Amino acid sequence: MAQTPTTVTITGAGGQIGYALLFRIAAGDMLGPDRPVRLRLLEIPQGVRAAEGAALELQDAAFPLLRDVEVTESADVAFHGCNIALLVGARPRGPGMERSDLLAANAVIFGPQGAAIAGHAAADVRVVAVGNPANTNALIARAAAPDVPSHRFSALTRLDHNRALGQLSAALDRSVDGIRNVTIWGNHSATQFPDVAHATVDGAPVFDALAARLGGPDAAARWLDETFIPRVAKRGAEIIAVRGSSSVASAANATIDHVRDWVRGRPADRGWTSAALVSRGEYGVPEGLVSSFPVTSDGTGYRIVEGLDLDARAARLVEASVAELIAERDAVRELGIL
Ligand code: NDP
Repeated sequence: MAQTPTTVTITGAGGQIGYALLFRIAAGDMLGPDRPVRLRLLEIPQGVRAAEGAALELQDAAFPLLRDVEVTESADVAFHGCNIALLVGARPRGPGMERSDLLAANAVIFGPQGAAIAGHAAADVRVVAVGNPANTNALIARAAAPDVPSHRFSALTRLDHNRALGQLSAALDRSVDGIRNVTIWGNHSATQFPDVAHATVDGAPVFDALAARLGGPDAAARWLDETFIPRVAKRGAEIIAVRGSSSVASAANATIDHVRDWVRGRPADRGWTSAALVSRGEYGVPEGLVSSFPVTSDGTGYRIVEGLDLDARAARLVEASVAELIAERDAVRELGIL
């Protein structure tokens, strides 16, 4: 019997990340080669023509899995029957914009989208906020959808996770494929904490492999603090400086990875990955904040890996990033949005 198509809604679909995402979704990279898809592209009036153009190209690509593409300015239409919501469109920080202005501008986007998801999406909807500030945008969308279970909301930190894998692979001269159990903690921002304390490469601790390669444990610790952590956390700015525009293809790729593992599951022998989920108090992160954690997935949902030891330094770094999430949440509350 023919499979019912999965409805995927992409907001800001006429933008750069949208353009890098659409063709891979339609090709089956996200949901698998056996899952037909129906795409709903949500745009604001200025973005509609770009989304319509992408829809024409999707038709020209003749993807066997692509059943239907609809471009709309209505969130109610876009999220009707939605199974997977990729919240990409966001208001960028303009000149002279304070953080509270940015949060307010995005609350006007993500609040109504959360409400439209609550009103129109399928019961099995899964939502990922990609547009920044992604963690707090997810928090706002989730707050506007109180009847949708909180485990159905997430924000993207998979790009940070993948960046960490890439840096370790280069430093160790080993394949990304052999690296397990890296964690991104906290906010998708410069305060994030990329943590390798539990990471292994080809079965051995990453720290030991770094020490062997860099000339001892002190050199390894220095490399982690002075090169690895800042480089991963600020990689977006580095890409902009080198490429002249932002890291859209890797952001789209990470979005595909995030949803694929969430929906199709992740083999247990590949270890954990990172995703920002609604906290239930794990690792002392206040309940309700959308913070990045180590996660596994059997395809029914992401599960936070609990019980990992954090030494004093790691606990301090997690706390600093979570403090930023608390400040963002409080700023949104002060605006009367939550
Ligand atoms: P992009 O498609 O390049 O980026 C979209 C969002 O993704 C931005 O918030 C951006 O954050 C974020 N992002 C997350 N990770 C990355 C990364 N690694 N690299 C780059 N961006 C990242 O933006 P465009 O301006 O090309 O497109 C946005 C589209 O959204 C436009 O077509 C616009 O019309 C639409 N839009 C739709 C809305 C809606 O549907 N209601 C609302 C607002 C806009 P950052 O800004 O921090 O780089």
